Amino acid sequence: MKTGTIYLVGAGPGSPDLLTLRAARLIAAARLIVHDGLVDPEILAMARPDAQLVSVAKKRARHTLPQDQINALLVREALKGHDVVRLKGGDPFVFGRGGEEAEEARAAGVRVEVVPGISAANGAAAATQIPLTHRDHASVVSFVAGQCKGLSDQDWSGLAGKGRTLVIYMGVKTAPQIAEKLMADGLAPDMPLAVVENAARADMRVLRGPLAALPDLVITEKVKSPALIIIGEVTAAVIEQGAVAAMQMECEAK
Ligand code: SAH
Repeated sequence: MKTGTIYLVGAGPGSPDLLTLRAARLIAAARLIVHDGLVDPEILAMARPDAQLVSVAKKRARHTLPQDQINALLVREALKGHDVVRLKGGDPFVFGRGGEEAEEARAAGVRVEVVPGISAANGAAAATQIPLTHRDHASVVSFVAGQCKGLSDQDWSGLAGKGRTLVIYMGVKTAPQIAEKLMADGLAPDMPLAVVENAARADMRVLRGPLAALPDLVITEKVKSPALIIIGEVTAAVIEQGAVAAMQMECEAK
């Protein structure tokens, strides 16, 4: 019997129209989709009516399937001869554990294909009009993971500061430790930042402030996951949201 293929597919930050055409085609054709909690219901609705949708939601700890069980599920189905679409928020290879799933599949002799998606950082940059690089403000951009596990062991020195943009995934809960860590590394307390909640979705919120105010901002504004923290001069250089809205109205009027 022919072994199936595992497709590691990026679902982007939310809206179906931010999917790649390849992702949309695979979702529409799939008989089995294994997806995580960040994938928007509108995207899941693109599946065939008879497709089997398996949630291995990572969003709420209650229903989390451990990673080794996810790997085993994907490989088991492929070895049975089924193609599997493993659908992930954003890009599968940016904090998506796609690398681990691909390794497991290859070790089991299963073919893997990876379909890139728009990572939250790119979705947030576009939706807020905060450029991640800019000839006047930043020539380096780094992506880091801010979750509790191993945070204090990570070396972020030199990743943020003048001329550099730092994008922090999974950093809402650890915002106080993140601010402290960066200032201990020498980052100025008044370095501007933006917190982007639900980036590129209808309910997006953008909050701004200096680094030192990050812990308070997250608490007083009750920031919820998924959110990104973008640190650097690019977040201050952006045109005000009002100006953006006015520009859009002008375009529509034309
Ligand atoms: N593979 C994904 C990241 C998964 S890690 C990607 O490439 O985007 C999960 C983290 O991604 C969340 O904790 C949050 O920090 C970020 N994230 C995902 N979608 C987001 C969104 N729409 N808005 C803001 N942050 C998002």
